[in-house]
Amino acid sequence: MKITNEIYQVGGGTLTSPEDAAIYLINFNDQAALVDAGCGGAENKLLKNIAACGIRLEQIQYLLITHCHFDHTGGAKSLSDKCRCKIVAHELDAAFLEEGNNTVTAANWYGSTIAPFMVDRKLKGSLESINLGERTIQAIHTPGHSPGSVVYLTESEGLKVLFAQDVHGPLDRSFMSVKKDYLKSLELLLSLEADILCEGHFGIYKGKKKVKNFIKQFLK
Ligand SMILES: [Zn+2]
Ligand SMILES: [Zn+2]
Repeated sequence: MKITNEIYQVGGGTLTSPEDAAIYLINFNDQAALVDAGCGGAENKLLKNIAACGIRLEQIQYLLITHCHFDHTGGAKSLSDKCRCKIVAHELDAAFLEEGNNTVTAANWYGSTIAPFMVDRKLKGSLESINLGERTIQAIHTPGHSPGSVVYLTESEGLKVLFAQDVHGPLDRSFMSVKKDYLKSLELLLSLEADILCEGHFGIYKGKKKVKNFIKQFLK
């Protein structure tokens, strides 16, 4: 599913499996990155969708993890082994992925277990830049839903594209959600003034106003 000429949705819902959060593909000058990996149960479909975008696995440089939850990371180990790409996640969530923590990653919720994996690049602090095909993707720390939640912000065809998975929450003590941080992060998301929002479970919103309205409903 094409979002711009450089960005596609390749997983989530009917594209792979209803359990999977959305998986996005960014292609900047023939260097690619994936945003999140889904649960991993429909990897064959995912690989087919990536190929249908004209991307070979060896072009994938990064797997950009938004946060540690199983519906975004269960497939990360197998996928990154196949692509031989670097896994990127915030250090505050990386620990739970590396130790295979089934509670904080919510793998338990899915009646599953997380395959632990090492995070190659641990994001620190509130903002880091990632280079891809001579372009830039910003990783912005947005804690609340999980301690190390991040959003990725980039530009494509003159539009600000925001990959902000699980903007909607939920908040749960078992995965260390903090409401105060979550609300602050929502305000930060609004201030980014994105033109396109690629969400984890609620689809793609195009137009600044639609993006803002989607985010604002969770501030109430
Ligand atoms: Zn989540
Ligand atoms: Zn999710």
